[in-house]
Amino acid sequence: KTLLDVRNVSKRYSQETLALSNVSFSVNEGEFVSIIGPSGAGKSTLLRCINRMIDATDGEIILDNENILNYNKKDLRKCRSKIGMIFQHYNLVNRLSVIENVLHGRLGYKSTFAGMLGIYSEEEKRQAIKLLGMLGLEQEIYKRCDQLSGGQKQRVGIARALIQDPKLLLCDEPIASLDPNASKVIMDYLKTVSTTMGITVIVNLHQVDVALNYSDQIIGVSKGEIVYHGSPKDITNSQ
Ligand code: ADP
Ligand code: ADP
Repeated sequence: KTLLDVRNVSKRYSQETLALSNVSFSVNEGEFVSIIGPSGAGKSTLLRCINRMIDATDGEIILDNENILNYNKKDLRKCRSKIGMIFQHYNLVNRLSVIENVLHGRLGYKSTFAGMLGIYSEEEKRQAIKLLGMLGLEQEIYKRCDQLSGGQKQRVGIARALIQDPKLLLCDEPIASLDPNASKVIMDYLKTVSTTMGITVIVNLHQVDVALNYSDQIIGVSKGEIVYHGSPKDITNSQ
């Protein structure tokens, strides 16, 4: 079943910068997709269009059978609740504890008074602790985030994204700041998220070898255009 359908999407930042040009692809539920390409290719712009952090200039983005480019502000919240984001620099609040950062990802946390004050229910805390345990962070739950290694921080980022129960996880260069060992741990967790939780994962990457190891589909982007699209098998066979 198709979860995401990107149709003829273009994004122009300015007269000179056409960051995406007529990009189309679709992704099934539970699939693991890598987007590879050099710096400046448009990978991050693509993820930001899908999450509606920015608006595509042209095209359609169908998520769960709805064209999210038509969404107004109110619908956007609904759309974002289906999407979790993972960032290269983790985007954690360093002075807060691990569990507080995870609870921060809870849907609509800023819309309730309790959320604003950082008060969470026992059920929410149980859920956060469960996710942190799943990600091998049971010893880190009450540590401040600035005491963690990069790989641990990224696992907190994954827990924060998962607590809102997303259908789609968008990961923007999740391993670009990590050493090879930590990178492998993170990629393995992301793979587990797709295979055992059925969550669709889209990952921006530089490394072709990593994409070959983990993906169902690989999309190669260069200068805003898709220059390659296929399975890892297709790539290895063509070489
Ligand atoms: P990648 O993620 O593959 O490195 P980006 O999506 O960040 O690529 O960038 C694609 C192109 O769009 C680049 O030429 C970049 O300079 C430009 N760009 C990215 N963000 C902005 C922005 N906010 N304003 C203007 N140009 C941007
Ligand atoms: P600001 O007061 O600067 O707008 P926010 O309250 O929006 O700060 O965000 C505080 C921190 O929480 C930021 O580091 C941000 O990345 C993170 N954050 C904000 N919204 C979300 C969300 N929906 N899910 C996860 N983290 C979020």
